[in-house]
Amino acid sequence: MGPERAAQLARLGVLTIGDLLEHRPRRHEDRRHPRAIASLELGQPTLLRGTLVAQGARRLRGGRGLFEFILDDGTARLHCRWWNMPYMDGWFRTGDEMLVFGKLASQKPRAMDHPETERVEAGDDAPVHMDRIVPIYPLTEGLPQRWLRSLAWSIVHAHAPSVPEPAYTVENLPTRAAAFGHLHFPDELDDSERARQRLALDEFVDFQADLRRRRMAVQSRARATACAGHGRWSKQLLASLPFKLTGAQQRVLGEIQRDLAASVPMRRLLHGDVGSGKTVVAAAAITTVAECGRHTLLMAPTEILADQHARLLRTWLEPLGITVALRTRHHHDSTESGFASRGPILVVGTHALLEESFQLPEVGLVIIDEQHKFGVEQRNRLLRKGACPHLLVMTATPIPRTLALTLYGDLDVSVIDHLPGGRGAVRTHVRAADRLPRVMDFIRAELQRGRQAYVVYPRVGEESEEATPADVKGVEREAGRLERAFAPHRVGMLHGRMSAEEKERIMQSFRTGALSVLLATTVVEVGVDVPNATVMLVENAECFGLTQLHQLRGRIGRGPHAAHFILLSDQKTPAVLERMAVLTRTQDGFEVAEADLRLRGPGDLLGQNQSGMPPFRFGDLSRDLSLIDRARAIASKLRA
Ligand code: ADP
Ligand code: MG
Repeated sequence: MGPERAAQLARLGVLTIGDLLEHRPRRHEDRRHPRAIASLELGQPTLLRGTLVAQGARRLRGGRGLFEFILDDGTARLHCRWWNMPYMDGWFRTGDEMLVFGKLASQKPRAMDHPETERVEAGDDAPVHMDRIVPIYPLTEGLPQRWLRSLAWSIVHAHAPSVPEPAYTVENLPTRAAAFGHLHFPDELDDSERARQRLALDEFVDFQADLRRRRMAVQSRARATACAGHGRWSKQLLASLPFKLTGAQQRVLGEIQRDLAASVPMRRLLHGDVGSGKTVVAAAAITTVAECGRHTLLMAPTEILADQHARLLRTWLEPLGITVALRTRHHHDSTESGFASRGPILVVGTHALLEESFQLPEVGLVIIDEQHKFGVEQRNRLLRKGACPHLLVMTATPIPRTLALTLYGDLDVSVIDHLPGGRGAVRTHVRAADRLPRVMDFIRAELQRGRQAYVVYPRVGEESEEATPADVKGVEREAGRLERAFAPHRVGMLHGRMSAEEKERIMQSFRTGALSVLLATTVVEVGVDVPNATVMLVENAECFGLTQLHQLRGRIGRGPHAAHFILLSDQKTPAVLERMAVLTRTQDGFEVAEADLRLRGPGDLLGQNQSGMPPFRFGDLSRDLSLIDRARAIASKLRA
């Protein structure tokens, strides 16, 4: 082909024969079963087959050129017309057998404008664009569908049959050779889906095998410090808590401590719904590592969360002689004193921990909270701060199993599957916006009883992001109104545009109860822990994603009192109703996550930070769970 076509293909990522084989059609079009011209109706794209009986070019009044030929299939005649394409004159031969695909534009005379055509060749050279299920490819500027399809046809026929099978056998799906054929030119529409599944399976196997290899490489080469610990501090820590660990917490702590005691570096994901009590498990792990004289780094995605962790862990760990330091963009505790005393240190921080200038020797454990907010690259950078430390990542976003298996396939998983008891249940209510006055009465009554409330808006102020609808209320605009409505209870405002100090000051006032109501954007989504807050009102709830709403809901119901999650929305589209229904139906984060994946697909669910997201060409994380399971089983039997 010429350089221009080659450049166009390159823009599609097609540089080799293999790339073209893997260039997935966007969809297929069924161009089989020619219809009788006499039976045609307007509008429906259809295939016709007949003889070209006459042709000619004309110039019309107004200067437009018309070329047309007449197709006769024995039932009727059809005018096939092309406007302003004079060069078509001379392309066709009268008397040829033709296939024509297009939509009927008029009945009298029966005519199609700019249909696709293909001559029926004598012999067995099948027509490529007609009389079959044809692929419709994603294209790029200047690249004609037909040209690409012809190329695919010749390449698929020349090369797909010699695509080899991998080292494992796959039952009940086509071979790779057949799959590449059917992916492009299936005999039936189902065939292309089965072809996709086969290629997706291989893709998942490769991915899983790669994860396994990397993991085995780490674990066979690297030696972590085995931290069995003397156990006295951990015991003291647990005795000092106002609660007993739940069975689930004890179990996962046991799993973590077993890992820490080994010289194979731990790579573990601690997976637990919001409020399941991951922090205290982390604290116990930090203590075990400290018992061996090693330090810990704990990274959290926001300053509020880092600060909250630092405060809480200070009260738990400093009595044991562990120094707790905070490091964020705005706050650098010195770790010098810790070195001087030679005691173990915990540094809690945000991304600031990743800065080159920050170094701490003897890091035995790295913990990442709300892991899904970070990319894999950030995880690895933090790990490089120590000499092969143990790694514990924690997430409150329950990830559907498909995603967990692919994204976290290189991690062992511990799950806290029971929330601590002694909690009030959270009830979820969906209300139309005109019920706001009654909702406000309800919130006032809660405040009267000494409880606290969150009110959440989807955006900050008037000048906010263009994506939010014009009628969405802004936090700033609402603040005044709410202050009056809730007086004498005090209302504070929290949003992403405030400085870190301001945010922290507000959070602190809310924590101490000086503020009764916190008016906020989704800053409160992650990790904030105020057990006395029992109500959350979310306005314009339709603007939020399902997982996001579930995360918000996790901020309440953390104390002994019954809690209420109130969603205000006037939108009644099926998608919105479905999201709300999921939330009222279940409190189980895994169920919410599965539903979210089903409703939105994996990209959105993971957010832009998931730079570690594998780009699957054929695999579809929202529906290929059983293929992923199969792939895992296959990969585990492969020789490394
Ligand atoms: P998350 O898993 O969302 O990070 P947290 O660690 O913030 O949850 O815990 C939520 C709340 O539950 C905190 O107030 C914590 O002190 C409390 N908590 C944790 N474990 C228990 C337990 N076993 N019994 C009672 N309360 C607990
Ligand atoms: Mg947490």
